[in-house]
Parts: sequence; C-alpha cells; structure tokens
Amino acid sequence: MPVPVRGEVLVRVEACGVCRTDLHLAALELPPRQPHVTPGHEVVGRVAETGPGVTRFEVGDRVGVAWLHSTCGQCRWCRSGRENLCPASRYTGWDAEGGYADLLTVPAAFAYALPEDGDACELAPLLCAGIIGYRALRRAALPPGGGSGSTASAPAPT
Ligand SMILES: [Zn+2]
Ligand SMILES: [Zn+2]
Repeated sequence: MPVPVRGEVLVRVEACGVCRTDLHLAALELPPRQPHVTPGHEVVGRVAETGPGVTRFEVGDRVGVAWLHSTCGQCRWCRSGRENLCPASRYTGWDAEGGYADLLTVPAAFAYALPEDGDACELAPLLCAGIIGYRALRRAALPPGGGSGSTASAPAPT
C-alpha cells in the first residue's frame, strides 16, 4: 500500500494507457531504473488520500499522472519552465511506481486536474501522447487563426 509523503497524493487508478515507452521497458530496450518497477504513465484516477502539506487537491478529485514524475525545481531548466530537461528528473513507471496498479503516489505539483466528464480510457492517452502533441503545437507558435496556409476557408468535409 503506497503511502503519500509530504506534498504527494495517493491516486486510485481508473484507467492507464499503454505508451510505446512501456513496451520498450517491458522488452528491456530501456533499462529499468528500479527493479520490478510498475510501468504505466498515462494514468487517470481519483485522489484517495493527500499527504501532509497538499492544498491543491482533495480526496475524490479526478487527476491524471503523466511520464514526468518530479524534478528538482531549482536548476536553470526548472526555473525557465523547461523542467523536462532537468538532470534530476524522475519518471512515472521508470523511477517511480506507475499506473498498472490499483494505487500509486505522485507529487501533487505533477498531477493534472482532470474534468469530471470524459471516459477514463479516452482521457488516459492525453497524459502522454496528448501532452507531446500539445507541446509541439505550443512550440510551433501558430498565430491566432493558424497563420498562412490556414485551411480555414477550405470547404467543409462531406
Ligand atoms: Zn509515454
Ligand atoms: Zn531541475
């Protein structure tokens, strides 16, 4: 039974997607960082317990857990909003126990608030594939309306 430490929440898993990275781990193409670690990093669930100091979530809140499990919060990458480059980053299902389980813990700062509506199995892939696509869209820095080459005036599909 995982126990949330300071700043963490305990999450009861509703659904967990399968990412290609999980298959790399299962095939040992990506060496495990923890022996017998539980994979799974596209987690949809509900907060079952809050650790000391957690104010962001309450028991029963719907949350998502993604690949990035925690970072140092102090290096230049963390301070510039590029915490995915943090040399001390830890990953769900690689360094920390993942979502192919009934319960897992995650730092509250790295849990995503999820809407009440939406099927858990449909939300789960957004926690990895969705984040990657969203990041690519943001980095593309498209102007409002999509910029030149916009298909806004294209005929509607039939
Ligand atoms: Zn993934
Ligand atoms: Zn850092």
